[in-house]
Amino acid sequence: VYTDKYFSGTREDLIKLVEAQVSTYRFEHILRVEKMALQLAEKWQVNPEKASIAALTHDYAKERSDADFLAVIDAKHLDPDLKSWGNYLWHGVVGAEMVHDELAISDQDILDAIRQHTTGAAYMTTLSQIIYMADYVEAGRDFPGVTEVRQLAFDDLAASVGWQTRHTLEFLLQKQGPIYPGTMTTYNEWSTK
Ligand code: GDP
Ligand code: FE
Ligand code: FE
Ligand code: FE
Repeated sequence: VYTDKYFSGTREDLIKLVEAQVSTYRFEHILRVEKMALQLAEKWQVNPEKASIAALTHDYAKERSDADFLAVIDAKHLDPDLKSWGNYLWHGVVGAEMVHDELAISDQDILDAIRQHTTGAAYMTTLSQIIYMADYVEAGRDFPGVTEVRQLAFDDLAASVGWQTRHTLEFLLQKQGPIYPGTMTTYNEWSTK
């Protein structure tokens, strides 16, 4: 049961709403992100209800259609430049608007953590860093270095944000994927100090 009123129902209510939006494998990822986020929240002294709600909703919009995202960008007069990118950016940035409008979650700290969970940002709260990292190192993730960066998130959260950003950038360069400028901003702020 949530007592802090960031969401008007229980955790079970929120889980049902999220489960209805995504496939089984993604729902299971979301539950693993929540588990990791709660562990990180305890370590870094972040409100566990905020961590739970942000984790459970971070990929709420991941399986929505491109047309849905483009309609919300227009309807809510978001930066039209967003239209140049794709689902990987929209499900966080535009997804936060859907979480706000459809689930009546209006805490800015939670909504920013959803917005920033894919690309990071120059300034990230501890909650936002936790969601960014929990998404990356939840127990189902498997990539070279995952054990080390999972530990790093508990030892030096900011350094782990830098690690993820550096590796995501390397991965994107390798596959010649488009790089959102915000991803570069995060790299410059978190990985080069
Ligand atoms: P997920 O929603 O749980 O799969 O994870 P994320 O939301 O963190 O990431 C979604 C995808 O976006 C991942 O494959 C990232 O590598 C990718 N990604 C992150 N930043 C960028 C970027 O700047 N450009 C592109 N093309 N992809 C990115
Ligand atoms: Fe995501
Ligand atoms: Fe992520
Ligand atoms: Fe995710």
